[in-house]
Amino acid sequence: MTATFEWNNIDTVLLDMDGTLLDLYFDNYFWQVLLPKHWGELQGITATQALQQLMDWYEKEKGKLPWYCLDYWTDRLGFDVFALNSHAEHLIKMRPYAESFLQHLAAKDLNVVLVTNAYQKLVGLKMEITGIDSYFDHIISSHDIGYAKEEQEFWHKLNDRISFCKERALLIDDNLTVLRSAKQYGIEHCLAIAKPDSQIDAQDTMEFYAIHSFADLFT
Ligand SMILES: [Mg+2]
Repeated sequence: MTATFEWNNIDTVLLDMDGTLLDLYFDNYFWQVLLPKHWGELQGITATQALQQLMDWYEKEKGKLPWYCLDYWTDRLGFDVFALNSHAEHLIKMRPYAESFLQHLAAKDLNVVLVTNAYQKLVGLKMEITGIDSYFDHIISSHDIGYAKEEQEFWHKLNDRISFCKERALLIDDNLTVLRSAKQYGIEHCLAIAKPDSQIDAQDTMEFYAIHSFADLFT
């Protein structure tokens, strides 16, 4: 699988945030370590027990909009889940060469769009910390659209909103389910991220070309 595209065949670049531009370590640490520990303390159970229960719930909700909604988890768990993010803020970091890649795109005449399943308040926090918001023509959260990126409706509604030619669009995302959904919708160029979390080994990106370094796309 090779990245067979030429930049002059691309008008719109759709970029995911967590695990693509930003290190997924923050999110994995938050959901799998910090949140179970905190919620476990509130429930009087161990972090391991809390994680087991949460993993069960995560699995049931995975890929649906509520899974990505911090208000949903706040209601369900009984504490302010967004506020807990401040305890791990120092882990919100760009992936290697991600900012250089954004600068590279800015130098071309492209429509650059952030498309994320992250909840709007969390997008705001991450933009504030990384300062990358100025690189985007649009910043779209699936919570604005009403469907997660895993769902076909997301792509239809996204196109209604920002109007792009899917034959001349490139999507870069670390989530294979999202890439398959985009491909099914007809987005011509779909690339995966090999190593979304700096602390975990590279993933098998299956049918999708894997970006090992954004520097490989500086052409
Ligand atoms: Mg992602």
